[in-house]
Amino acid sequence: MNRSSKHTPFVSALLALTILLVWPLHAFSEMFSDEDLQNAVDKAYEAFKDVKEGANADYIPILATVPSELFGVVIATKDGKIFSAGDIDYRFSIQSVSKPFTAALIMAQQGPEAIREKIGVEPTGMPFNSKIALEMYEQRSVNPMVNAGAIAAVSLVQADSEEQRWNLVNENIEGFAGEKLSVLEEVYNSEYETAWSNRAIANLLYNYERLYADPEESLRVYTRQCSIGVNTKNLGIMGATLANAGVNPITGKRMLPAEHVPELLAIMASAGFYDESGEWMFNAGLPSKTGVGGGIVSVVPGQFAIAAFSPRLNGPGNSIRAMRAIRQIAGELGVGLYGPNPAN
Ligand code: GLN
Repeated sequence: MNRSSKHTPFVSALLALTILLVWPLHAFSEMFSDEDLQNAVDKAYEAFKDVKEGANADYIPILATVPSELFGVVIATKDGKIFSAGDIDYRFSIQSVSKPFTAALIMAQQGPEAIREKIGVEPTGMPFNSKIALEMYEQRSVNPMVNAGAIAAVSLVQADSEEQRWNLVNENIEGFAGEKLSVLEEVYNSEYETAWSNRAIANLLYNYERLYADPEESLRVYTRQCSIGVNTKNLGIMGATLANAGVNPITGKRMLPAEHVPELLAIMASAGFYDESGEWMFNAGLPSKTGVGGGIVSVVPGQFAIAAFSPRLNGPGNSIRAMRAIRQIAGELGVGLYGPNPAN
């Protein structure tokens, strides 16, 4: 009794000192030096630059002509710093990587309930262009990461004309990228001329009263959205805006209320890789979005985004080199959402 009370001030002082010393170390352990981030990017680029597996998408004919060897890797931090390797300035079509950002626009305009009620938030477990999912689930569009949900999201944008709908969609994506972008018109023409599957989806949704504007207008604006040209750095900054709780680190503009960022990331985690979403979360543990142009962006909330681009895809339509690079970086830095996932 006597002894312990005698030692208390000493023990308290020791405790205070320990906390003082260890706390900054702990805080620091969550951050990375510029060198750590650049090394992780370089290592992933080197590790996968010679991978030749997979093939360019060709159901949109022009995508088959994009040079398959291109490969770019970027980390973009929530402060707007860029660490990069490879072909990071090459402009490719954003394709489905655009989908979470238009979902963000709907959340910002109409609240997340609009997404939940008018589109849905369940993963389909099926390919991005599934018509079966649309027939199977009463919600029809199912979630905004697959084509049905993304076309529905475009149709939900409050606009008086097709031009205004397009301007709102485009300006929102530019806002996330922090710079002016432009449509790759050849990609748009190639996709719109062959868009029979997406036209079927738009018409089916309209039939089920799950499309909120004219089907052909919605299809055109969706196809233009997918044809926006971006480079890997643009994708990095778009992801960094989500990592930065919805504020673009370059322009300082708020693109999404902070409280809705977790809701958007949750949809990306469960459906961003379509029927490969479970496998991706198992492997890399990061909310992400892929596109058949070869781009992928992953978000480490509160820290940074990892973006990668390479045109050769696997069966579900996800870029093989981009996937491996991102998984490698996430594993190397130990930033998986549920704890450190192993690298490749
Ligand atoms: N524009 C493409 C389509 O609708 C997008 C698909 C994707 O990137 N997965 O088919």
